[in-house]
Amino acid sequence: MSKSNPLLSAVSIASCKMIRTVLRKTGRGGTAIPGEIAMKISPEIPEVVSSGMEIIVVTGTNGKTTTCNMIQHAIESAGRECLLNKSGANLLKGIAADLICNSTWTGKPKTHYAVLECDEAALKQVVPLIHPKAVVVTNLFSDQVDRYGGVQNTLKEIRTGIEKVPDTTLVLNADEPLSASLALNVPNKIIWYGLDEGVGVRGDIDLSDAGTCPKCGGAYEYDYHIYAHLGGYRCPSCGYARPVPDVCVTSINRVDASGSTVNIRVGKKEQEVSIALPAVYNVYNAAAAVAAACAVKISPQKALDSLSTVRSSFGRLETFDLDGLRLQMILVKNPAGCNQAFSYLTSLDEDYTAVLCLNNQTGDGHDISWINDTDYEKLCADPHMKKLFVCGECADELSERLTRAGADSSMQQIVRDYNELLPLLKEEGRSVFALPNYTSMMEFRKVLSQATGKKEFWE
Ligand SMILES: [Zn+2]
Repeated sequence: MSKSNPLLSAVSIASCKMIRTVLRKTGRGGTAIPGEIAMKISPEIPEVVSSGMEIIVVTGTNGKTTTCNMIQHAIESAGRECLLNKSGANLLKGIAADLICNSTWTGKPKTHYAVLECDEAALKQVVPLIHPKAVVVTNLFSDQVDRYGGVQNTLKEIRTGIEKVPDTTLVLNADEPLSASLALNVPNKIIWYGLDEGVGVRGDIDLSDAGTCPKCGGAYEYDYHIYAHLGGYRCPSCGYARPVPDVCVTSINRVDASGSTVNIRVGKKEQEVSIALPAVYNVYNAAAAVAAACAVKISPQKALDSLSTVRSSFGRLETFDLDGLRLQMILVKNPAGCNQAFSYLTSLDEDYTAVLCLNNQTGDGHDISWINDTDYEKLCADPHMKKLFVCGECADELSERLTRAGADSSMQQIVRDYNELLPLLKEEGRSVFALPNYTSMMEFRKVLSQATGKKEFWE
């Protein structure tokens, strides 16, 4: 199918593999350079090295990394090997490099399956080159507005990508009206996942991202809400409504810091399933992973069983042991994700120390005004939250926001150096929840890794 030149392909593959090896030996694992050079030599190289593979691409605002991790685990639990782009390089060049390094020197893939996290804006460049079997869209929320130009623009970007791959199965969140609208006017097969009304989750309602009916422009009405703009929406003017999910969570029976137990119906069969990662948003990620496994003909039962042994990925409810104290790290980068993390913390029946870290580097988005749209009041009102440490380059702005949210000076403390933070956390002697945004997570995690002996992420 590809019209690539075999000699250029060979040079491209060799260059990528060798440059990456050298970069890693010198401690620079996470860069786009190997893929960039490989694609300069042969722009079709992703197509060559992914030929014959079954690939699942995961995009969307929140939950991409964890969903990818869950899908890979489901495929491996079914006895198949599966590539995952776990270095987090989710633009075209990074994905190209991961696929090349997963191939032999002659360009034959070493695994039949791959799960690839893909940036929303990069989807349209990536999918025509790798012909994925399935594209999962987790959800759409306002995120890094300065970079994408708003959530409606992100939706358009994703649609442009999807229109290039009509044979790809779409795995879509039935409860989230923006990404669900991607099913309209495309020939793709759709697998829907969602939470039923009966799950009893009543999170914060924020309909600012909901949009309007894609068929007639009317305003949605909701029969029930899960959180934010997710729930049982319908358009009273034209009858357009939330689709019935193929993979459906019918009840949430338990959620604590170690995970949750839920009932999931796949097709007509319903059963109780354990998910080894806590928080309601991971119930969505789990349902997405099961639906994606179905798209590549992995047994749904194997996928459901695998959820009880799934492990957290880099910074996503990742758990560290700090001299006997449990520290859970939750990456937060927008109001929706942050509010969901607060919902998780405040749902637990235990006292804790919270660490909030905020940077405004390029990897985070320079605009930190999203903290004004985030429900810190909910965190500050939680009687179990006993102490709040505020860190990062924007600690002063965040501290001011927390003061407005009700955290007085006895409750919160600014700490400038992560090395000084660790002894303070030990002194407090409670479980810790750390909620950093991206680059502050990298900085805090580095200090934590050194203190607790965890590996760097590309190892
Ligand atoms: Zn309508």
